[in-house]
Amino acid sequence: MSTAAKILILGGTGEAVALAKALTEAFGAGLTVVTSLAGRTKTPTLPLGEIRVGGFGGVPGLTRYLREEGIDAVVDATHPFAARITANAVAACAAAGVPRLRLDRPAWKPVPGDDWRQVPDLQAAAALLPALGSRAFLTVGSSELWPFKEVPGVWFWARMIEPPAAGGLPETFTIVQARGPFSLDDEEAFLRRNRIDVLVTKNSGGDAAAAKLAAARGLRVPVVMVDRPPSPPGDGAPGIAETVEWLRPILR
Ligand code: NAP
Repeated sequence: MSTAAKILILGGTGEAVALAKALTEAFGAGLTVVTSLAGRTKTPTLPLGEIRVGGFGGVPGLTRYLREEGIDAVVDATHPFAARITANAVAACAAAGVPRLRLDRPAWKPVPGDDWRQVPDLQAAAALLPALGSRAFLTVGSSELWPFKEVPGVWFWARMIEPPAAGGLPETFTIVQARGPFSLDDEEAFLRRNRIDVLVTKNSGGDAAAAKLAAARGLRVPVVMVDRPPSPPGDGAPGIAETVEWLRPILR
């Protein structure tokens, strides 16, 4: 492996943090691992290795960055719903001739006992809600509350890591600030305490946020599940181990 090997991880997820650790352990000091964060969260969980923060400036900016920094490979470990940076990575890596892998945690799938309504986007989720319940547990990002502001007859408990910008939310909203992972006991207690009768979530996949689905199943609470955007073309891996194996020949 060349001492100049340098990997860019597009991060902002638990997988990105775990990958930086796994790569550091697998390839040692001969590999420079840079994780890029969008800078949305004030107190992010910081990965091992180097960190850069903030947008690149679209496809041209990311292409320039890859060339100037001599990046040997890119792992797109961003959230499954972060569609713009994923599309930018496809285009920029093609332009710069840099191999790219999408680390895509598997989507959640319904199991017996689940009552899911799958919808294509947040607006469709909002439109469906009044027919399903009146006390909704909303687990979407702080910038994604707007489709739910005008939903008639529904009260919302919206859980997020950081609160939305002050003002602008109707009295039907209660903001619950918390960072996962959450246990099944915690989630069941939350649903019972707030008498939640419908859950709204994006199909993020992964273990850290899955307990709410088991809690909803146990309490027979329907789930409005927002489907993922399509996966990008090209190489993909479901987990850390497969990603490390994909990188081995590139770094040799
Ligand atoms: P997005 O809509 O796909 O990206 C919007 C813009 O933010 C991109 O064009 C890029 O700016 C910048 N950006 C996004 N991720 C970046 C990264 N890792 N490093 C540098 N710049 C980045 O993304 P988003 O949905 O707002 O998500 C932002 C970040 O939060 C992502 O890193 C994602 O992993 C994390 N996150 C997202 C969600 C979600 O539900 N969307 C949930 C949890 C965590 P330029 O065009 O200027 O480069």
